[in-house]
Amino acid sequence: MKIYSCETHINHALDIFVAEQGSFPIMESMLDGEKLSTSCTYCEEVALYVVGNE
Ligand SMILES: [Zn+2]
Repeated sequence: MKIYSCETHINHALDIFVAEQGSFPIMESMLDGEKLSTSCTYCEEVALYVVGNE
């Protein structure tokens, strides 16, 4: 499971991850190369963080 999130939705993304996966996720800043091409899971903003379990 991976969730891409903007600054606004990062707390929401973390909550969803914990609710669905039952464990606390790893949160990483997006790499520069990915930053401009991936949008937030919850809105149209550019994603700044990726939440995942790997
Ligand atoms: Zn967002």
